[in-house]
Amino acid sequence: MNIIFFGPPGAGKGTQAKIIEDKYGMKQLSTGDMLREEIANKTDLGVKMKLIMDEGKLVPDEIVIEMISGHVKSDACSKGVIFDGFPRTIAQADALAEMLDGCSQEIAHVIELKVDDAILDARIEKRLRKEGRSDDNVVTLKKRLAQYRLYSVDVLPYYKEKNMHQEIDGMKSIDEVTTQILKILG
Ligand code: AMP
Repeated sequence: MNIIFFGPPGAGKGTQAKIIEDKYGMKQLSTGDMLREEIANKTDLGVKMKLIMDEGKLVPDEIVIEMISGHVKSDACSKGVIFDGFPRTIAQADALAEMLDGCSQEIAHVIELKVDDAILDARIEKRLRKEGRSDDNVVTLKKRLAQYRLYSVDVLPYYKEKNMHQEIDGMKSIDEVTTQILKILG
C-alpha cells in the first residue's frame, strides 16, 4: 500500500510517517529529508538547492522526480511507501502515478492533516528551538507556509477529483492523530 501525507510544515507528517512506517513495515520517503541530506553532504545539487530552499521556494519538478524515482522502484514496488512532502505540483503527481503504474501500483490514500494556523505557529517555534534545521528559520517557515497554501490549491483538488483525498484533524494528540490514520488505512 502506498499513501501520501499532505499538510503544512509543522503539521506532524514526519512524526506520523515514522509511526506508520514501524507499524506497517512501509518506507517513508521525504523529499525534504533527501534534499537536506544533499545539503549536509555538500553535493553540487545540495549547494544549488539550498539557495532555493532557504527562499522557501519549491525546487524544480525534474529534480525531485529524478531524486524519488529510484526509491519508488525499490520501495513502493515492494513494501509500500508513505510519501511525505511529495507531490507538491500536478507535474509531480502525474509523474508519481506513472512511476507507480510502471509496477502495477497506485496511491491508496491521500491523507491531509489539517492544522489551525495558531497551533501551527506554536509547533514551528518548538521545532525551531529543538532542531535548528538549516532551512528552518522563522522567515523561511513563513515562506514555506505561504508556498504550501499556494501548491495545496493545485494538488488537493487533483486528488479530490479522483476521490482519493481524506481529511483528518491534525490538532489532536499524536496518539489520536495516529488512530485517525489507522482507521483510514483499515
Ligand atoms: P519539507 O521538509 O518537506 O517541508 O521540504 C523542505 C523544502 O524542500 C521545501 O520548502 C522545498 O524547498 C523543498 N522540497 C521538498 N519537497 C519538495 C517537492 N516535492 N517539490 C519541490 N520542492 C520540495
